[in-house]
Amino acid sequence: YFITFEGPDGAGKTTVINEVVKQIQASCKRPILVTREPGGSKIAEKIRQIILDPANTEMNAKTEALLYAASRSQHVSEIIEPALKRGDLVISDRFVDSSLAYQGKGRGLGIKQVQAINDFATGHLQPDLTIFLDLDPRLGLARISRARAGTEDRLEQEKLAFHQEVYAGYQEVNALHPDRVKLVDASQELPQVVAASVKLIASTLPE
Ligand code: C5P
Ligand code: MG
Repeated sequence: YFITFEGPDGAGKTTVINEVVKQIQASCKRPILVTREPGGSKIAEKIRQIILDPANTEMNAKTEALLYAASRSQHVSEIIEPALKRGDLVISDRFVDSSLAYQGKGRGLGIKQVQAINDFATGHLQPDLTIFLDLDPRLGLARISRARAGTEDRLEQEKLAFHQEVYAGYQEVNALHPDRVKLVDASQELPQVVAASVKLIASTLPE
């Protein structure tokens, strides 16, 4: 069984996943594998380093999307698929929907185009359940930069415009998959967000 967490920057995916796992571990009959993109695969990690290297400022959007897809392909074949075959519950911090939102919508490549390269990369692997931590990107960015005061205004504006575009991308993607994607209001306090996520998992996970 394959569960993914999605959401804008600052929605709290990593924190929520850690808390959720603590709560479901005792009652879950199968081993739980928590992973995050690029997912502890050596090759996937190296590809991610190329994407995130601040020196690579000239990287175009298609290269970025293809590198994410390449990294994801390795993550799927090396980590996720073997775990699913063993019968583990796999929980991933981000998956294909992130690329549809960030590269497809945010970077303007088109959601369909980015879906196509990811279908090729993953062999059409789809999560059984996706929990979308729903948060206004303005609040998400504020959470992240709360500690970092005095950032330049124009940069902040550009960042916000990009993340609003990403959020709109997520909304398009979520609307395409109403059965798979479930929303949790991530503006709530952490315990409420965790409880809502645990409830969703409990109600969809087969015995
Ligand atoms: O939230 P997380 O730590 O997983 O994201 C790391 C960074 O990578 C974020 O700033 C996010 O905006 C970016 N990202 C991206 N495209 C993706 C996935 C993540 O630009 N497909
Ligand atoms: Mg995170």
